[in-house]
Amino acid sequence: MGKNESTLNDITHWIGGRRAGGPPSRTSEVFNPATGEVSGLVRLADAATVDAAVQAAKAAFPAWADTPSLRRARVMFKFKELLEKHHDELARLITLEHGKVLDDARGEVVRGIEVVEFATGIPHLMKGEYSEQVSTGIDQFSLRQPLGVCAGITPFNFPCMVPMWMFPIAIACGNSFVLKPSERDPSPSLLMAELLKRAGLPDGVFNVVQGDKEAVDALLTHPDLAAVSFVGSTPIAEYIHNEGGRHGKRVQALGGAKNHMVVMPDADLDQAVDALIGSAYGSAGERCMAISVAVAVGRIADELVNRLKPRVERLKIGDGMEKTSEMGPLVTATHHAKVKSYVDLGIDEGAKLVVDGRGFRAAGREKGFFLGGCLFDDVQPGMRIYREEIFGPVLSVVRVPDFGSAVDLVNAHEYGNGVALFTADGNTAREFSRRIKVGMIGVNVPIPVPMAFYSFGGWKKSLFGDTHAYGMEGVRFYTRYKAVMQRWPGSIGKGAEFVMPTAK
Ligand code: NAD
Repeated sequence: MGKNESTLNDITHWIGGRRAGGPPSRTSEVFNPATGEVSGLVRLADAATVDAAVQAAKAAFPAWADTPSLRRARVMFKFKELLEKHHDELARLITLEHGKVLDDARGEVVRGIEVVEFATGIPHLMKGEYSEQVSTGIDQFSLRQPLGVCAGITPFNFPCMVPMWMFPIAIACGNSFVLKPSERDPSPSLLMAELLKRAGLPDGVFNVVQGDKEAVDALLTHPDLAAVSFVGSTPIAEYIHNEGGRHGKRVQALGGAKNHMVVMPDADLDQAVDALIGSAYGSAGERCMAISVAVAVGRIADELVNRLKPRVERLKIGDGMEKTSEMGPLVTATHHAKVKSYVDLGIDEGAKLVVDGRGFRAAGREKGFFLGGCLFDDVQPGMRIYREEIFGPVLSVVRVPDFGSAVDLVNAHEYGNGVALFTADGNTAREFSRRIKVGMIGVNVPIPVPMAFYSFGGWKKSLFGDTHAYGMEGVRFYTRYKAVMQRWPGSIGKGAEFVMPTAK
């Protein structure tokens, strides 16, 4: 695979329809987290490279915005076909740089493809409203038009799906786009760029700048950028929202999470335990919708912990490319050290460590960034391991006496991304859905990521801005509303009007 290997090693930008290296620049190491080896060097864009990408997007915008929406939709149809054809290749790129197990990576690609499917309906989705005869001889209509150059800044944990929450809809709406992927797993962005080109997207409509804070800041302050979509951790989301807003951009910034699963005493415990194992330890807990807190209500707590313990101990942890692995490594050694330090902290804070995964070593992969599953019991709301996002395979059990205390606990947390309730009682579920202050709720569903034709977003410190991601919220974010009132000479009466017009 010589050629692929050499292109993978030098991870470039994508500007104006081709890979763009440019002059020697800063680079950052990209790892295979399962082996701990460096697999590539990603270029880190400076302001000049960011400007080149924005200029390419700016030049491509007018013609693309003028392209009939049906033709834009046809590019999305073709793109979807190519994504399906290259499904495995994309999944492998994800696993090799992120570490998640291959089937999980395949699932991520599917959830991205579903947004592309949604975007193929763009002629219908952008339809305006029309009212005839709002006054004698006068009609009123509304339309939505693209904004211009939009940017997406995305996190490491879904290098395919999260960018696809953004650019298929932005582009289908008639915008051009600059993607700044995570520097930790940048390769899938380049394959997606190539597939868009092969799907017939004109050069310059989609661009990729690899990079870190320097590239992000150059985007946020660029005068030719109209809008920024961000997904990542809360401190950076808040920064993007404030800085982008200060520079006149439309901004949506999705942040971090601490997702609870409330287990009621009447819940089917087998189902609840299965759901907790999958949602807390899947993708090594590196999901913004991972469950990191189990809220055990009343008498169920002891049995819940007793059943969780052996399941956490038996997790099959290994290289994500191995079919037998249920959970892969963490993304980098730095992140591994951070997650491990939270486990140390939990012990210092007085939580009970029921399963300690800190000593785990994967056979034959001793240099990989693996951490075994960890389970804490008796976690208290004041502890930092409860309040802060750990983003690793660490589940905390908090015990509460009743349903009301569970609702209060969830509502008092500063994050409000996702939440789940396990119960057999319809009325409890109904009350929960009404009273809980969280953006996405699962009733007996542990990870309630909305389908592509709904929208994704949290409340409180999990989202800054007004609109959620993808679905109709995405269409609204990437378009500007316009209202037109018209009449034709034959219906215009004589004489100037000096009072506020009302229906006649
Ligand atoms: P991160 O915030 O470190 O990075 C996200 C992006 O911001 C990357 O492209 C990165 O290059 C850039 N960035 C990092 N530091 C920056 C700085 N100081 N200034 C400007 N830009 C900067 O997040 P991550 O570690 O890549 O991803 C994990 C986080 O993302 C978790 O907090 C997770 O909950 C969150 N996340 C949220 C959602 C959601 O939908 N709410 C989805 C996925 C991930």
